[in-house]
Amino acid sequence: MFENKEQNKTSLKSLGEFGLIDHLTKHFDIKHSSTLKGIGDDCAVISAEGKELVVTTDLLIEGVHFDLSYMPLKHLGYKSVMVNLSDVYAMNADAKQITVSIAVSNRFPLEALEELYAGIQLACKTYNVDLIGGDTTSSTKGMLISITAIGSAKKEDIVYRNGAKPTDLIVVTGDLGGAYLGLQVLEREKQVFQVNPNNQPDLDAYTYIIERQLKPEARKDIPKLLKDLGVKPTAMIDISDGLSSELFHICNQSKTGCKVYENKFPLDPQVISTCEEFDIDSTMVALSGGEDYELLFTIPISDFDKIKGNPNLTVIGHITEQSQGLKLVTRADEDIDLKAQGWNSFKE
Ligand code: ADP
Ligand code: MG
Repeated sequence: MFENKEQNKTSLKSLGEFGLIDHLTKHFDIKHSSTLKGIGDDCAVISAEGKELVVTTDLLIEGVHFDLSYMPLKHLGYKSVMVNLSDVYAMNADAKQITVSIAVSNRFPLEALEELYAGIQLACKTYNVDLIGGDTTSSTKGMLISITAIGSAKKEDIVYRNGAKPTDLIVVTGDLGGAYLGLQVLEREKQVFQVNPNNQPDLDAYTYIIERQLKPEARKDIPKLLKDLGVKPTAMIDISDGLSSELFHICNQSKTGCKVYENKFPLDPQVISTCEEFDIDSTMVALSGGEDYELLFTIPISDFDKIKGNPNLTVIGHITEQSQGLKLVTRADEDIDLKAQGWNSFKE
């Protein structure tokens, strides 16, 4: 798709760099008073408005982080923004601005970048963030996207990875493993398509997990929900690499251990049925799948009543002393070392 073979597509050369930047960004509006200057000068200018600023950046490379044979460019634009906003929300901050830098080879026509920016624009609108700058350059092969997100929070509201304490409850938002399984389904369909391009896949049984892979939503609602509930997490991280990996980060930085319970992991029915179909263990998928962009956080046990019964939040275990290590309690009530449970075995 979007190979620059079709005559009716517009080559990037015909616009020139400045024409291209203007064309792609002219429909973005500025929503925040903290954005003093957006696109158009040597720097954007941001007011902290008496708060602390948080900054995060991610680099996405075609063939490594995304595959354009099943990732529509509009979704790619949207997801690239989500990946960054998720990190901002994981600090318990609110996202305000992004910059977007792209490098593209001449195989991409203008129409491809318009699609990409349509996804970026939808994300900006839905999540109330301003596009305030970026950079545009050519690449010899493929597409690269680098997005930086800036957020703000009151100093006392910011949550780091290092504040978890023994007895704290471990909580996850939403459900786990969907994005990974969605990718498995898409990869399978790609193989089928390569063998028989006339095959029309029936993906009805996988709509939720495919959406989790192609159109993830960052949990903007969670910092607000926690504030409304009167809960400040002791530690928080977003689940981009898989639950297990994120537990390691929190426990390493907080100098603690943890105990999580297999039978508590929140799994969508589609995750369970697709795991059965692919003959993969759903616990492995929850622990190692990645790309779910949910939040993982710890709260004092005394706050349990405040979150109890909330459909967005699931308690999956608790923090322990560092000497006790990181443990998974299986359905058979056995303690397994989280690392030995194949933390790395999923990924090459
Ligand atoms: P400079 O020469 O200082 O690097 P550019 O000519 O690259 O500036 O960019 C001009 C303006 O357009 C700047 O405000 C920059 O942040 C913005 N910009 C450049 N590329 C993009 C992009 N891909 N998306 C959004 N804004 C961009
Ligand atoms: Mg530049």
